[in-house]
Amino acid sequence: MNTISLSPATVLPDGGIKLSATLSYGFHSEKQYLIVQAKDKKPQQLTHSGDVWSIIFLHKMMEVGGQFHIKSTLSKSLWRGIDRYVKAWCQTNPDQYRDIELTADELVDDSDSTVKQKAISCFSGGLDACFTAYRHAKALAGPQSLPLKACLMLHGADIRKDYVDEWRAASADARSMVEDLGLDFYTIETNFRDMHCDYGMAYFSMLVGCMRVFEKDFGYLMLGNDGMFTSFLYPHGSNPVTNHFLSSAANEIVTDGAEFGRIQKAALVSKWEKGLEKLRVCWQGDNLSSNCGKCAKCKRTIINFKAVGIDALPCIPALTEEELFDFELTQVEQKEMLPVLEYLEHHPITPTPSWVQKLKNKLSAGIQESKPRKRGFFARLFRRRKKQTPVNIVRPNN
Ligand SMILES: [Zn+2]
Repeated sequence: MNTISLSPATVLPDGGIKLSATLSYGFHSEKQYLIVQAKDKKPQQLTHSGDVWSIIFLHKMMEVGGQFHIKSTLSKSLWRGIDRYVKAWCQTNPDQYRDIELTADELVDDSDSTVKQKAISCFSGGLDACFTAYRHAKALAGPQSLPLKACLMLHGADIRKDYVDEWRAASADARSMVEDLGLDFYTIETNFRDMHCDYGMAYFSMLVGCMRVFEKDFGYLMLGNDGMFTSFLYPHGSNPVTNHFLSSAANEIVTDGAEFGRIQKAALVSKWEKGLEKLRVCWQGDNLSSNCGKCAKCKRTIINFKAVGIDALPCIPALTEEELFDFELTQVEQKEMLPVLEYLEHHPITPTPSWVQKLKNKLSAGIQESKPRKRGFFARLFRRRKKQTPVNIVRPNN
């Protein structure tokens, strides 16, 4: 029988709380840990049960397929949602995932549960996370506004767990942003990536599993979505189709802000001084705790903020206009930059700055498809088996 076994929670000398569990299947096992740093929280205030570990191990279990037993409790409504999630992923990625049958020592009837009116949100310091944290902390989301009280940053996600210096710098910046909004800042160190799941597909389950550590205190577990309803990737780790299946009677998974593009997100974050100072969008630079100013994402971010009136973004090194537009225009850049021109039509800057014409020239030159690079051995080995498809790309008329 394949099993998930939990080890007792331990308090570390620095006050961190270590939760761990092992997935055993066939002759294999995966040991996972979560080291939680959350103010004065005691182990008994955290969830260390099947509600956390069934989600952390979910994609690995789907890779293996078959029967799995959790030697712990599992909320019955989450058990139901997991089955929907699994069925959806098996149907969209049949070469990658297999159906699972999940049992637990006890399925807890949570049908009478109510959703506690407090929200926690994942926070990386990026534009999606900043937009979600800012608009909920300031109650700017209209009927969607949630009582956001804390943000959670993961060490071992985009910043590897052995990149200690970069983590210290990036998490210190993130803490200053979150506390600037009057929210609590929690962190979890995870070795999730040691399981070598297809990270692009599995990262959302890692985020939800980690947020569920706090499910007793927070009814809403939130994530700023990185795609729009009109153009999200599917199948892809986080998406507005399957994310909510990991909700339960007491905890609603909120995929936030998918009706907004990066230009609208920049427009809102431009009103947040600390956000402009500490925003972290770069994943290609030599130091992941800061923005390199050289990669296309850094440059796209500068252009987005220029369009909303921030001419010199303090968190990214200044560039000349020539440097700013020296990037390869791929579909990704085109998808993000066309809405900038559309935004400027409705929010013109007068007199029109010279960079606007340079952006128009860049876009009218069209996509520069570089020659496909020959895939290396590991790239071939780990390449996605099924191509992701943008649901639709909305193009403005001009
Ligand atoms: Zn960069």
